[in-house]
Amino acid sequence: MAEAIAAIHCFPYDWRMQLEPLSFGGEFIASEREAEYRAERLSESIRHVRLVFRCAFAVNVLFYLNDWHFFGHPEFYVALPARTVIVVVSLLCAMVVGKIRDFHRLQLVCAAWIFPVAVACAALVTPHTESALFITFVLPNIFFLALPMSFRGSLLAGIGSSVVVLGAYMLPSPLSETSFGLVLGMLTINVVLILVLTRSNRLRRLEWAAARSERLANQELSEHREMLRNILLAVPTPLIITAKFDGRIIQANDAARRYFGDAVLRDWAAIENCIDRRDLARLAMILESEGRAAEFETQLRFPDGRVTDVLLAATVAEVGGTDIVLTVLVDISSRKEMEAHLERLATTDSLTGLPNRSYFFASAAAEIKRAQRYERPLAVVMVDIDFFKRINDAYGHKTGDLALMSFADLCRTVVRDQDVVARLGGEEFGILLPESDQQSALSLAERLRAAVEALRVDFFPTTMTISVGVSEVLPGESVVDGALSRADQALYAAKRSGRNRVVHCGGQEATMRMASGNDMLA
Ligand code: GH3
Ligand code: MG
Ligand code: MG
Repeated sequence: MAEAIAAIHCFPYDWRMQLEPLSFGGEFIASEREAEYRAERLSESIRHVRLVFRCAFAVNVLFYLNDWHFFGHPEFYVALPARTVIVVVSLLCAMVVGKIRDFHRLQLVCAAWIFPVAVACAALVTPHTESALFITFVLPNIFFLALPMSFRGSLLAGIGSSVVVLGAYMLPSPLSETSFGLVLGMLTINVVLILVLTRSNRLRRLEWAAARSERLANQELSEHREMLRNILLAVPTPLIITAKFDGRIIQANDAARRYFGDAVLRDWAAIENCIDRRDLARLAMILESEGRAAEFETQLRFPDGRVTDVLLAATVAEVGGTDIVLTVLVDISSRKEMEAHLERLATTDSLTGLPNRSYFFASAAAEIKRAQRYERPLAVVMVDIDFFKRINDAYGHKTGDLALMSFADLCRTVVRDQDVVARLGGEEFGILLPESDQQSALSLAERLRAAVEALRVDFFPTTMTISVGVSEVLPGESVVDGALSRADQALYAAKRSGRNRVVHCGGQEATMRMASGNDMLA
């Protein structure tokens, strides 16, 4: 991974760095680069050399016809063997060259052709005819330019053939008045040919180097693309790239496919359907205004009923002229479950499973606010189990625990869904009754009292009773403490007046109204 990241950092690739210095002859100074160039062009060079050999063969066969005009002259007896040497050597070399596999051998074959051809041409020009002059000045052109050899090889072949052929042409009268002109002419041709050769070498190599660099750059680019794609696919959390304009999914990694499934991962709209509308609007707003959203928490509801909690991070970017949205999500369902579990532990009484004291007060604060805002009644009930110490003493602490649990279960069946029954401590319980006035609170308390009295459990031979104090939150009270204290006073009033009864604390005057069994006072 570190290598991959390092590779990303050295991008983009500068292909101009790949152009290498050239020698005077237009060849690469670096021998390995020159060898690479020659090796890459070898098959094309072989094809070309074979073509040269074949042309030499064909042209000289045609020249046979021309030579017949001199039949009987001494030139004919020089031309015939010389021509035959060229024809045979060209034919043999054309046959051999196809089997060549490296540049060095190609050079050898060229040399094997050049040497006899140059000597044969030298023989051909000795008659000093017009065509002899033509051959004298054409041959260096062929050796310099027509054969793809090394610069040194071309120089040797070109200059050597020029000397040999011109020497042979001038042989009968080397110091004639035209000799100096001929030598100068040959010198000029050689200089021009060397210049043409170096320029051609240079251009061909520059072109090759540029093409090679571009090829390498493209190769590197595609490797980078492939690597980035692989990294993207390998990212272990779901990652989706969409077009901002139409929501089309441009790329999604394997983790996203596994997480969403192919049915959902068709387009962004299908994913949007899983997100809560309001969250979606909020996310779109953040992306529009800030271009990125981090730690965006939401829930996904999948078509198959699965619900997951996720943390989204999304960012808008421009790639190749298109606005894309890159979204990464982390499933936080287990974290959420753990949080919920911890919250449950923090707000639940472990013995009875009822909400605990802190939950009761938090609910009371919320319920009071609600009651005030909507001007609705809210009643508070305090319950204490009578003579609970005796139960413990008589039947043991464990039985006492079972009694507390049975009481809690009973409470759950008596109260309504919106009511909150909490264990405030020991054998004391508090009940919040939203939307309950004095009358309905008293009636619920009485129902609970009667149910406890009627409760029969197998671990416990006697009956259990409770004393209950009831009060309401008064208009203007913003905390539950007052109502709770009044309910507590009513509870102790119930205790004092004999237990197993419900007492209502009616307002601040603390007028006690007592209810016992069927004798409940409202
Ligand atoms: P009263 O009618 O005046 O309320 O009498 P009481 O015995 O119920 O009151 P008291 O306050 O004297 O005793 C409460 C007892 O409740 C004492 C304590 O041991 C017991 N208790 C408190 N919490 C638990 C508990 O979690 N499990 C058990 N088994 N007993 C508990
Ligand atoms: Mg008690
Ligand atoms: Mg008590």
